[in-house]
Amino acid sequence: MKRILITGGAGFIGSHLCERLLKDGNEVICLDNFYTGNKRNVIHLFGNPYFEMVRHDIIWPYFIEVDEIYNLACPASPVHYQQNPIKTIKTNVVGAINMLGLAKRVGAKILQASTSEVYGNPDIHPQPESYWGHVNPLGPRSCYDEGKRCAESLFINYRKQNDVKIKIVRIFNTYGPRMNINDGRVVSNFIIQALKGENITVFGNGLQTRSFQYVDDTVEAMIKMMQTPDEFFGPVNIGNPCECSIIELAKMIVELTGSASKIEYRPLPEDDPGQRNPDIQLALQMLKEWTPTVKLEAGIKRTIEYYESLLTQGLI
Ligand code: NAD
Ligand code: UDP
Repeated sequence: MKRILITGGAGFIGSHLCERLLKDGNEVICLDNFYTGNKRNVIHLFGNPYFEMVRHDIIWPYFIEVDEIYNLACPASPVHYQQNPIKTIKTNVVGAINMLGLAKRVGAKILQASTSEVYGNPDIHPQPESYWGHVNPLGPRSCYDEGKRCAESLFINYRKQNDVKIKIVRIFNTYGPRMNINDGRVVSNFIIQALKGENITVFGNGLQTRSFQYVDDTVEAMIKMMQTPDEFFGPVNIGNPCECSIIELAKMIVELTGSASKIEYRPLPEDDPGQRNPDIQLALQMLKEWTPTVKLEAGIKRTIEYYESLLTQGLI
């Protein structure tokens, strides 16, 4: 049995990771400041003697003896990370320093949840790990993009200078149950709008693309990455290369919910990437027997069921 710290464990991906690592027979410490996460996401784990919840902000040091650390703490949706951009930078940079310092002190292996946003608005498709990106360092997304890029640099340099065992995964758009209802991400926005019969807000002409991966496939890849030999530390893209335009997604969600909602076009936010699609050759080669398994339509159906249940409980 390993003792594992998950920062951002009460968030969307973090809560699924907590669940899965407990199921695999580990002891899990879930650390979160509840900025975008919620106790409701992990409340079903509270009775488990191998699960602990800690309210803490990673911009302050935290000490605990653990074998592994998954560093997920950071708001992930553009709406939330732009609300307090300086805090976003501090979480990414100071938070990473604190978690890397902890890993160094106790000899823990540490995995960084990096992002496809390190590629910015990419000018090559699909994006391989060797691509350096096309990021506006001054734009509204820079607090997140540059924060995550700096965190990757910190990880690489803690490895070089201090022999810390690191892993970096670059996660592409992940969706599924427990995405924060207010965080403005496209999948949760469209499903909630469709279920409530409100207009579906498509930004720009809707022809921009994303490649959506169901959360179970993301979690599986993160765990497999943690298990790779120490010599392999990434970065490695994890995502589902099935690319879809935003307008196609909107139409699929209207159809699957049986909603009467209409499409409403709104201005495209500044620096919104036009196209995003992961090259996952490295992941397929290095993450033992991993491949994305959940098709978009099946994953969207499961996510619709989740939001329907929140609606029935009066939580939306
Ligand atoms: P989320 O917002 O649901 O989860 C982030 C969690 O971190 C929340 O529970 C939040 O309360 C917590 N948190 C934020 N700042 C903190 C701080 N200073 N100290 C402690 N806790 C803090 O987002 P998510 O989608 O679950 O994303 C998890 C991680 O994966 C993030 O690091 C994100 O950048 C990365 N990621 C996610 C996606 C995606 O599509 N979901 C894509 C790329 C990368
Ligand atoms: N988007 C949209 N309507 C919404 C929310 C988002 O058209 O209500 C678009 C957004 O402009 C972007 C894409 O959907 O092009 C994905 O947005 P999201 O915030 O989910 O993730 P990210 O831009 O970080 O990939």
